[in-house]
Amino acid sequence: MDYEKLAAVYDALSNTSKRLEKTALLADFLQGTPAAELERVILLLQGRVFPLWDKRVLGLSEKLLVKAIAASSGASERQVIDTWRDLGDIGRVAESLLEKKSQSTLFSEDLTVKAVFDNLRKVASSEGKGAMGTKVKLVAQLLSSAKGVEARYVVRSAIGDLRVGIAEGTLRDAIGWAYLVKDYTYDEEKNALLKDGEPVNGFPELRAALDRSNDFVLVARIAQEQGASGLREVSVVPGKPLKVMLAQKVIDFEEGFERVGKPCAVEYKMDGFRVQVHKSSEGDIRLFTRRLEEVTEQFPDVVEVVRERVVGREFIIDAEAAGYDPRTKKYRPFQDISQRIRRKYDIETLKKKLPVELAVFDILFYDGEECLDRPFFERRALVERIVRERPQHVVVMPRVVTGEVAEAEEFYKESLAAGNEGVMLKKLDAPYQPGSRVGTMIKLKPVMDTLDLVIVGAEWGTGKRSGWLTSYTVACFDEQQEELVTIGRFGTGIKEKEEAVSGDAVTFDGMTERLKPLIRSASGRDVVVRPEVVVEVKFEEIQKSPSYTSGYALRFPRFVKLRPDRGVEDLTTLSMVETAYERQRGRG
Ligand code: ATP
Repeated sequence: MDYEKLAAVYDALSNTSKRLEKTALLADFLQGTPAAELERVILLLQGRVFPLWDKRVLGLSEKLLVKAIAASSGASERQVIDTWRDLGDIGRVAESLLEKKSQSTLFSEDLTVKAVFDNLRKVASSEGKGAMGTKVKLVAQLLSSAKGVEARYVVRSAIGDLRVGIAEGTLRDAIGWAYLVKDYTYDEEKNALLKDGEPVNGFPELRAALDRSNDFVLVARIAQEQGASGLREVSVVPGKPLKVMLAQKVIDFEEGFERVGKPCAVEYKMDGFRVQVHKSSEGDIRLFTRRLEEVTEQFPDVVEVVRERVVGREFIIDAEAAGYDPRTKKYRPFQDISQRIRRKYDIETLKKKLPVELAVFDILFYDGEECLDRPFFERRALVERIVRERPQHVVVMPRVVTGEVAEAEEFYKESLAAGNEGVMLKKLDAPYQPGSRVGTMIKLKPVMDTLDLVIVGAEWGTGKRSGWLTSYTVACFDEQQEELVTIGRFGTGIKEKEEAVSGDAVTFDGMTERLKPLIRSASGRDVVVRPEVVVEVKFEEIQKSPSYTSGYALRFPRFVKLRPDRGVEDLTTLSMVETAYERQRGRG
């Protein structure tokens, strides 16, 4: 398949913000995609060449891309950088410089989807001495046969920043329309996708298959070849992470009981990090965060304790790993142990300094059998049967089962006294729903006024703060429009270097280091950055405001901590902001 076709779709997608129009564009394209190209097309549409859980990365910086653009266009690196300054987007730079060149060349070979995919994969596998040169060459090779808009998307794919806005839900629905409905029409005037003049209500089989496999390529292939019946057969597989089930919030037990029914399970809400533990039939144990990043190497202690103390041939369990202080016997806040998630060296030292306890609270697969649809009380009983507890190493999540507010309150106090964040309330007969913020699992904590937001912009400081990015614009996620919307700007809570007493404090220096490589464009002192750095932000109040695209603004926002365990998909949503706003008005 010619890459030109894919580039045209990217371009069309970037020209509309209507979700259904995007879905229709994608569905049309998928219908015309032959089976042999499907894997490449699906991954490239997601802006990647490896599946989500694959650890391989391309390792291409903007600097290397400048070299590749220079090599393929004949422009000097200086010219490339100058054009970049003018256009503010490295993809457009490639497009404009190569456009000029292709007008002066008579013909060149057509670029194929396969070539782009293969070369980008090769980029990831070139390592060691001379690797940078090889990476540049591989991209330059693609650019040499790329025409205008193709160059834009080759470069954007290389940098992992497609900027065409294909949300997962849109791709999922497009697969549904293309392969399950097949015969559909897009009514442009009404902005509606229709089958025989009627809308279609979701694609339950597709959702279930994606929930279980988390694998768009697999699911698209099955939908294309076998339709809905094939999708029903998709099951979870140990070794392949699936999205975790998430909770909703309440403000007190009365509200909590109303949601999950009485009696329910009231568990500790530990302030650690979520870990999905997989053991395959070969005995391989692997750990994944809630963002599906593999962290097996960082936690040899957890691997060992699972091997020794969780009985079973193969399983997937859901747990929280919480730091504890062996002296005080209390749990430590997440912040204290967060460095263990990223650290790739000195693991043995860190393991001793910052030990974690694994508290198992759910199970998704056990010895050949998927458990997602079994009621929670049965899954919990299974957990109790297979975990051989050893406090401070591995435990079953402490809990009570009750329908009495007084008893629940008592347990809540006990949980806080032990150093936890609050409690979780869980409906006893609920299934496990991967990836959803469900009403069957509820959290209750004393302070709820923090939001998880992503930094989308910043400002270069002046005077004493020049050379640093200060004042950060943050965004939440509008799940209706599937886009980020801004909600405020903060600078408070970040330390000047000399103020930073503990080694873990976040400084302007540190923030600048994190954000600088993510700069997409600049105008005056303001920069726009790629939305990757997720932060937890405290505030006094939410107000309505036209200054930000969410329509809301935070009063006195203040930085609490970095959330390296969070991605854009975990952000506070606009509807959560709306609920918090309404609630605050109710209280006020
Ligand atoms: P928060 O910022 O409040 O931790 P969150 O956005 O991480 O919330 P939620 O789904 O809202 O995620 O809250 C559940 C999280 O709490 C889980 O992801 C998990 O890491 C943690 N947790 C601690 N104890 C439990 C428990 N007993 N059951 C489920 N999750 C727990």
